Amino acid sequence: MSAIAGIDQALWELKGKYYNAPVYDLMGGGCRDSIRVYSWIGGDRPSDVGVAAKKVVETGFTAVKMNGTEEMQCIDSYDKVDQTIERIVAVREAVGNDIGIGIDFHGRVHKPMAKILAKELEPYRPMFIEEPVLAENNEALREIANCTHIPIATGERMFSRWDFKSILADGYVDIIQPDLSHAGGITETKKLQLWRKHISCEE
Ligand SMILES: [Mg+2]
Repeated sequence: MSAIAGIDQALWELKGKYYNAPVYDLMGGGCRDSIRVYSWIGGDRPSDVGVAAKKVVETGFTAVKMNGTEEMQCIDSYDKVDQTIERIVAVREAVGNDIGIGIDFHGRVHKPMAKILAKELEPYRPMFIEEPVLAENNEALREIANCTHIPIATGERMFSRWDFKSILADGYVDIIQPDLSHAGGITETKKLQLWRKHISCEE
């Protein structure tokens, strides 16, 4: 799918150059003038993340994203949980309550510890947790979603609309994150977007 994405995006590029138009015009035109974005701030050490978060917020970002944790065993120590909380607290203390914090588990956690982390993180009001488990363990998302109110994001390791089919149908994921360069390109991802509307009946 990465190879197909490469060809797909090259073809959009050629067509855009031929018509001297940006791709969004070829796809029907722009829909918005601005969009909220987050800035990556790392996340391995509390002192680093606090400083990094403050810096990007000062440049105008209203949201940040950071690593949640190092790799965790299926059942791991509360020490690692405490370290995760320590880093989130450092960011909250640096930037206050109004800044969005996305916390990327990066597929480094399995269901048992993901449930514990989600529960422990909830008081700090994260914007979302990302990849609480690897995509091949997506069946665990139901149980994780049922024990937290934090929105769940996933999708960067899912490679076509067929990979997204069950999570769209099941409804336990709140944010999908297809990587255009690995999920078949602009064309495949547009189909996924249309499908998302159809399945979830969202705007
Ligand atoms: Mg990620």
